[in-house]
Amino acid sequence: MQLLDGKYVSEKLKGEIAEAAAKILAETGRKPHLVAVLVGHDGGSETYVASKIKNCEAVGFKSTLVRYESDVTEEELLGKVAELNTDADIDGIIVQLPLPKHIDPEKVTEKIDHRKDVDGFHPVNLGRMQRNLPSFIPATPYGITLMLKEYGVETAGKHCVVVGRSNIVGSPMSILMARNTTPGNCTVTICHSRTPDIKKFTLDADILIVAIGKKNFITADMVKEGVVVVDVGMNRETSTTTKSGFKLYGDVDFENVSKKASWITPVPGGVGLMTIIGLLKNTLASANKEVYK
Ligand code: NAP
Repeated sequence: MQLLDGKYVSEKLKGEIAEAAAKILAETGRKPHLVAVLVGHDGGSETYVASKIKNCEAVGFKSTLVRYESDVTEEELLGKVAELNTDADIDGIIVQLPLPKHIDPEKVTEKIDHRKDVDGFHPVNLGRMQRNLPSFIPATPYGITLMLKEYGVETAGKHCVVVGRSNIVGSPMSILMARNTTPGNCTVTICHSRTPDIKKFTLDADILIVAIGKKNFITADMVKEGVVVVDVGMNRETSTTTKSGFKLYGDVDFENVSKKASWITPVPGGVGLMTIIGLLKNTLASANKEVYK
């Protein structure tokens, strides 16, 4: 078994991103600029946004955090997004999900100018991605492709099984793995909560990507020898043994599945770190006008 080591790859790519940001600063006098909008005080969201801001600073980007209490109206939030859309100093805008129930996340996602949509959630970016046109690719699937590429994992002609079909992970991941790109060129199966006998599919997977949010859902009897496993799951449980007071578990039973896998991501230290890289690379691409001129 070999580890798909998110810590190693993310540090390496962060070095490259920092060099590119320094070049932009030297040539234009400005830094790539990401604005994160955070509504309310959800523990997970606070952690993710803080990490995004910290990583922006680490690679020499400018970052701005816009905070709202959870009683902000949809109208006010949409108004703020409209204002950020027209600010020429801003390259990327993300609105951290989930949003409070009275705000429609689809409306917010569609309000973000697709040319600044560095989360890659806007229908224009998703459509362009599906057609293999330049686009911002959702950060987690993007990060996974960067990791597979870094380790030279062969994907062409393989059977890739994606478990989970969310708009932010499973669905875009399945599109990327089926595209005529490297990584890509897989035959893809998508499983979800209505799939009977998931094991029938996972047992046939050469590459298994799991994003469902269920601790240790994939067990050793569900995979074949030599499988490549990408575990997106981040299941938090309180713990008395860690400094943070919680412990993260993946959707895959790492201890036993790793005995059969050829490559596997750990949790933590795998996909989570690569997600940040996807976001930074999209912001950099926006600053360089690489996706939209
Ligand atoms: P989500 O929006 O809740 O979607 C979960 C998906 O899993 C849905 O498609 C659901 O099917 C499917 N599912 C749920 N239970 C299932 C079961 N028993 N069997 C088969 N399919 C099942 O989740 P998400 O946002 O994609 O996140 C998934 C996990 O990845 C979570 O643990 C999340 O924290 C983690 N995550 C990690 C990162 C990272 O950077 N590492 C980024 C994003 C998310 P239906 O569509 O039929 O309901």
